[in-house]
Amino acid sequence: MGDKRYVIGLPEKLGKKSSKDFILDDLFFEFIGDVLIKSCLLNVTVSCERKQTYWHLEIKVDGFILTLCDRCGDDLNIKIKGNDTFFLKAQERNIKLQDDSIIFISSKATDFNLKKLLQDTCFFLIPITRKHDIKNCNSDAILNLEKFKTTKTGQLISSKILKEYKKKLKKK
Ligand SMILES: [Zn+2]
Repeated sequence: MGDKRYVIGLPEKLGKKSSKDFILDDLFFEFIGDVLIKSCLLNVTVSCERKQTYWHLEIKVDGFILTLCDRCGDDLNIKIKGNDTFFLKAQERNIKLQDDSIIFISSKATDFNLKKLLQDTCFFLIPITRKHDIKNCNSDAILNLEKFKTTKTGQLISSKILKEYKKKLKKK
């Protein structure tokens, strides 16, 4: 977690806000492994507001990924847009909360490393099934499915990895 680029300051005063912008490209998503992201560009804005007993963290994502269509194997551009909200709370006692959006941090923390959160948030926005609208699919390629066998298998693996990763995230 040593990557300083993803650190956001936690404002001390009530009502104060800090924010940070990121441009995430394919390198950022190398951790996913085989999900066939050929390239991607995501604009991410994170804002962090000090509230009475916690920090309100909002992550907004807007951009695209270039991947391959599950059906025809051609390039497929997917728009990725969404936002997510989290609450950063100083660790108190041993409260076990069943809420994914609450993140406990050290009571001495003055900043927070967003890297993992950015990865998870963006990852959730990638659809498990990635296909063109049927009318935009490359029909020649579908007819020649044999030729695309390798790609197809790759896509199946990717979908499996995506599904399992999402399940894992949900369990936390
Ligand atoms: Zn297609």
